[in-house]
Amino acid sequence: MYDMIIIGAGPAGISAAIYGKSRGRKVLVLEKNQVGGLIGAVSTVTHYTAVMKEESGRTFAGRMKEQALSAGAEIRYERVTEVKLAGEIKRVVTEKEGYEGKTVILANGGSGRMLGIPGEHLKGIRLNAPKDGPAYKGKNLYVIGGADGAVKEAIYLAGIAKTVTIVCLEDELACIQEFRDKAAACQNIEIMPHASLTAVYGKERAEELEFTDNRTGEKRVVKDAECGVFVYAGIVPDTRMYTELRLEGGYIPVDEWMQTEIPGVFAAGDICVKKIRQVATAVADGAIAGIRAAEVTRPITQDAS
Ligand SMILES: Cc1cc2nc3c(=O)[nH]c(=O)nc-3n(C[C@H](O)[C@H](O)[C@H](O)COP(=O)(O)OP(=O)(O)OC[C@H]3O[C@@H](n4cnc5c(N)ncnc54)[C@H](O)[C@@H]3O)c2cc1C
Repeated sequence: MYDMIIIGAGPAGISAAIYGKSRGRKVLVLEKNQVGGLIGAVSTVTHYTAVMKEESGRTFAGRMKEQALSAGAEIRYERVTEVKLAGEIKRVVTEKEGYEGKTVILANGGSGRMLGIPGEHLKGIRLNAPKDGPAYKGKNLYVIGGADGAVKEAIYLAGIAKTVTIVCLEDELACIQEFRDKAAACQNIEIMPHASLTAVYGKERAEELEFTDNRTGEKRVVKDAECGVFVYAGIVPDTRMYTELRLEGGYIPVDEWMQTEIPGVFAAGDICVKKIRQVATAVADGAIAGIRAAEVTRPITQDAS
């Protein structure tokens, strides 16, 4: 029996684990992939206080993992498939095993939104900038999305590729000024405004990309069998298995203690209803959830003192 079972080892889950361990609790973190979550897969971590200069997501995630392990958190690499949250004892089932906990912290964030277009599964589509980018040296790349994450990765890719085209739904980039200025300073970044990638053609890999002008409906096909496409079209919360909880637009509502409507069940990070989704806010949520979950699992001996 664990005091706390944390689903997801992104910034929110790792922060909760560190605070839970600091209060002497038995903490299990379940992670389907790798420690780090979304931020572990980005080229550069920006704006988080005291982050290293030009720090990559990989090294940032590495330090997160090291800190959690040295705090004594148990991390198991298993995908959670089912939960039973109501009742005093919570049950969390993975592909491999079932676990019981006094509290559960839901910190499993979200996944990249699919475009839902023909050919999206082909090779060369939905690439990861730091992992796949270097293989596209001197090639033509397309970044789908014009928000902060998309433009930041486009700026990184511009240092590798021949050209980077940012395809954005809006008339102009929807990112912060800092990234807008940096993108404008890159001579090989082009912007394709009010447009969408609407189909990809090829046998095994992408060979032709079809773009549609969202204003006129006009279609344009680009033939390039060596191109790469990086999709940053938003995040969808991974809340499908939380059928016992009321959701708002797919996200989990919480109170100021990160407590959900079910006692002993907390949520933290991008998965919550919130205004700002950044590492800083995920870490803050995780800290609050970890501290509060530790309080509600306080051993009886401590209550008496
Ligand atoms: C391209 C991009 C760039 C960004 N850059 C920055 C930046 O520079 N600075 C910044 O502050 N923010 C940035 N962000 C936002 C930041 O990454 C997120 O706000 C933050 O990662 C949220 O942390 P989280 O722990 O809530 O969720 P996540 O990071 O999404 O972590 C959730 C974890 O849960 C795991 N998981 C999911 N489902 C299951 C399951 N069923 N079982 C077990 N594990 C599961 C996932 O594998 C993942 O590891 C960026 C986002 C994007 C998309």
